[in-house]
Amino acid sequence: MALLSRRVQQIGTENAFKIGPYINEVAATGRKVIRCNLGEPDFPLAPYIREEVKRQLDADNTHYVDPQGIPPLREAIAAEMGARRGLDVTPDRVVVFPGGKPPIGFSQQVYCDPGDEVIYPSPGFPIYESFTGYLGLKPVPLHLDEQKGFAFNGEDLAPLITPRTKLIILNFPSNPTGGVASRAQLESIADVILSRAPADVRIYSDEIYENILFDGSRHFSIASLPGMAERTIIASGASKSYSWTGGRIGWAVLPTAKEALMFKTLNINYFSCVAGYNQMGAKIAIESPESPPTIERMVRAFQQRRDHVVAALNSIEGIRCQMPKGAFYVFPNIAGLCERLGALELYEKLSSEVKPHSSPSTLVQMFLLFRYGVAVLDRRAFGAIGAEGRHFLRISVATALEDLQVGMQRISEASEDRDGFAEFVREGRRLC
Ligand code: PMP
Repeated sequence: MALLSRRVQQIGTENAFKIGPYINEVAATGRKVIRCNLGEPDFPLAPYIREEVKRQLDADNTHYVDPQGIPPLREAIAAEMGARRGLDVTPDRVVVFPGGKPPIGFSQQVYCDPGDEVIYPSPGFPIYESFTGYLGLKPVPLHLDEQKGFAFNGEDLAPLITPRTKLIILNFPSNPTGGVASRAQLESIADVILSRAPADVRIYSDEIYENILFDGSRHFSIASLPGMAERTIIASGASKSYSWTGGRIGWAVLPTAKEALMFKTLNINYFSCVAGYNQMGAKIAIESPESPPTIERMVRAFQQRRDHVVAALNSIEGIRCQMPKGAFYVFPNIAGLCERLGALELYEKLSSEVKPHSSPSTLVQMFLLFRYGVAVLDRRAFGAIGAEGRHFLRISVATALEDLQVGMQRISEASEDRDGFAEFVREGRRLC
């Protein structure tokens, strides 16, 4: 009998974390690695949130709390999420999780049976695809088109909806592309859903980057459109908006209180509850008048870095990079760079053990890390199904501008190093 279940062998991962040991390996040689891999704002937690968490610890708020989320935080979330979207949200429809990640897998568990279909964006946050294998669901990637600014409309979605569709995942602003759907695009997506999908198909709208928008644009949720709130799970959290990835606070608004209770039951089964002191910190974060200007300062910095990085990348022969409208990632097309470095031919010659786990952009990712000390992620890290022939990298700009400047300089030097690339691939140590 096999040690590991078939199920667990099907789960994927998030490479932003997985390459941590590789980064440590390079850093141990004394080289400073420019870390553009993790989606983690580099700003410190704001003092007014930090002080509240400390105060809560001193007040001994260190015990079990409501598994659905403490009522004061759920009330704050319901008020804020509802007001922003023009919706009437009640706290009994809100569930709090340790981060924005758990409701992704939980939604697939709550709504889908084996064989049911999950439509998700590709490239997209890897956890959307990862859970489908684990739960025996059918992954249905919706491939995003660079020419359409990595957004899509109803026409692109319509052919993917079948009688087995149970969940449709949307993510705007998007990780990894920074794409933002316009109101017109969301209207056309909503039209298709309302006309083609039965009422029990759920839309998972991952809005965790709702506050990270550039060039003055404002967030718009599909749940605000007529007929959509009844079908949409709206997910968000504190990690990105408040630069608080370590606080592990995320939340979702469910269409009904009955559905919220199923998520609460999963919470009870998996982790009982989320730390009460951090939940009180999140309440302050949501309600404090200091938050909007704090977020605005951070977004201004991201925008400045985005402008620098996109210009620097576009000045490198073989790289073409769009201007993202939100989140803190840029997603350059590196097809020309792969050609310049000879990555396409070298990939074709890889052994049959390595090849299925690699790609030309994976080779470029590894080369940049091990030879040039820049940590970025390849296209495969954002949904491997159907990624063949698509050559992109994701670069996080949630890193200091000075570091990004060094990083872009190193990528530019690497782009000239065809011989070094061939030698690196021939060495064969780190190819996937
Ligand atoms: N959704 C998306 C689209 C994300 O990019 C992330 C984090 N990178 C999450 C959810 C999860 O966030 P958290 O760290 O709060 O679990």
